[in-house]
Amino acid sequence: MMKRVLLLWLSFFIAYSLFAEGNGKYLKVLFTNDVHANIRGVKVDDINRGGFAQLSNLILSERKYSGSGPVLTVDAGDMSMGSFSQALFRSHAPELVGFSMMRYDAITLGNHDFDFGTDALALMLESAAKKTLQLGIELPAILLANLDVKSDKRLSKAFETVKVRPWTLVHRGGLKVAIVGVMGESAYHDAPDASKLNFIDPAKAIKRLLPDIMSENPDYLIVLSHGGTISKDGSSPDEILAGKVPEIDLIVSGHDHDEIHTPISIGSTLIVSSGWQGRNLGVITLLNQSLNDYRLVPVYTDSEADTVLLDYSLKVSSITDSVLISKMNLKANDSIVNLLTDIKAEPDSANPFVSKLGFLVADSYCASVRANMKELLNEPIIGIAPAGTLRFDLNNGLVRNEDIFRVLSLGEGDDYSPGHPLLVAYLYGRELKDLCELNASVASSMPDARLWFSGIKYTYSNYRLPFTRVIKVEIADASGIYQPLDPDRLYPVVAGMYSVKMLGLLKRSSFGLLSATPKDANGEPISSLKSMVLKDQDGRDVKEWIALASFLKGDYLKYSSDQEFEVLVDSRIKKEADFSVASMFVYPNKLMVTVYFALLVLLVILFYKVRQVIWRL
Ligand SMILES: [Zn+2]
Repeated sequence: MMKRVLLLWLSFFIAYSLFAEGNGKYLKVLFTNDVHANIRGVKVDDINRGGFAQLSNLILSERKYSGSGPVLTVDAGDMSMGSFSQALFRSHAPELVGFSMMRYDAITLGNHDFDFGTDALALMLESAAKKTLQLGIELPAILLANLDVKSDKRLSKAFETVKVRPWTLVHRGGLKVAIVGVMGESAYHDAPDASKLNFIDPAKAIKRLLPDIMSENPDYLIVLSHGGTISKDGSSPDEILAGKVPEIDLIVSGHDHDEIHTPISIGSTLIVSSGWQGRNLGVITLLNQSLNDYRLVPVYTDSEADTVLLDYSLKVSSITDSVLISKMNLKANDSIVNLLTDIKAEPDSANPFVSKLGFLVADSYCASVRANMKELLNEPIIGIAPAGTLRFDLNNGLVRNEDIFRVLSLGEGDDYSPGHPLLVAYLYGRELKDLCELNASVASSMPDARLWFSGIKYTYSNYRLPFTRVIKVEIADASGIYQPLDPDRLYPVVAGMYSVKMLGLLKRSSFGLLSATPKDANGEPISSLKSMVLKDQDGRDVKEWIALASFLKGDYLKYSSDQEFEVLVDSRIKKEADFSVASMFVYPNKLMVTVYFALLVLLVILFYKVRQVIWRL
């Protein structure tokens, strides 16, 4: 603590002396990204992190220690989705109002800010405008340069109300700072609703604006980019953006939840990112376009709080609880279970095919079907939890509704209650094999697409061509005994609404070689996904997270909260087969037949050519 205070003072003196001497263009930028509705803090590895009240306190002290040197506060998108407060998204815009209270200067939107659809986003922006007006405070400049909303009248109207614009020029402490906001391509493809809008390449959008921006002679050009940096090998969206637009001084990057501890340099552009959930406040100081100082300051929920924001976050919690009580008859802090061990979403380092949390979630989906659909009691049931839907880990200790919701925190029901509902649909055995193939052939390059299964066990061979690697699939029957897969049988499958919608992507990501189309019990394609939503005994939607909560509580599984919780990592894990000639010929598909046929033709041609040569000799 003492060290931090000393460091703060030291950076203040350096900054102040430079600034006081008029020794150059000094600018301090405070930044966050991907706050994901973490208004009250969250337990991360046994320490509570984030929280608007504590973040605000740090922002206030960073501003204070800057003397009269110019300070900007910005965010790079995905402010919402991730905690129960998203139930207030339309009505209260809790995150955007919070940012306004903390006097953020500029923000951009992330893909998750579009999660509830463009009408919901419009309502959120309008609510924020109304609330900030009531409070007598200003909204930050909301910047998005690469989206044309004209085709969406409702959103256009809201964008006008809150003055969403491509860029802004901030005059501060004698400096002119141009700030642009953009969303990266992979981000807008991630949000099914956002991808319907007219986004263009971020670099192209910024280049179009450059003449206007440069005519203002800004001292700095900052881009808030919800693009991503995770690969850090020059190929990530924000590194590419920096390469294409060298005029940018600083990119505050969001989307990949990346904690960047040393700024990435591409030419003279610096790229920074603070992680996610507001666990850190990013602080970068620039002097004459160069890096002067950089820190990610941890935000500890139990540290000193700004009382104004503390009152605000308590108010948000109490309104959230009243919504939860009315819609789902529960509260965020109701405790569900006492876990003696962490259950992580990340695959085991020793085995990338094992995610304890993934298996637990998929098991809970199957259990909720067995509990609520008596007609399927004697059927094999397949549970599917895509890795990308697991947003957070379960930590040891008392687990509350809020903690379980964070694991599966996306989506909402028709009544706007938080969380995606579960769907029960049917797939043919051959389509289930294609889903296993997705894991065997595609998932290593697309980790979010990896599927955690319940009720399936498969074997694959790396000696075979991609998209033809799976050589054996078994399905657990109602008593848990694995039986060979019947390719022509319809199997009931349970997964979240979003995951089922994304099944269509399978065809695209496999060049049409794999496919799975959700069907009804008669094998007919489903016209309305809503008709397939799993209902509980009272006729309410069973949500992904409710299935997990019920499973942990022991509604479906006898479980004592005093016992150490262990997830059974059973024999469903894939096995990699040794090379065998026989394994090269099972489950042939189009690609395999074509390649084998081409090889055969080549061999025949070679044989004749060799024979011709021998004859001539
Ligand atoms: Zn995010």
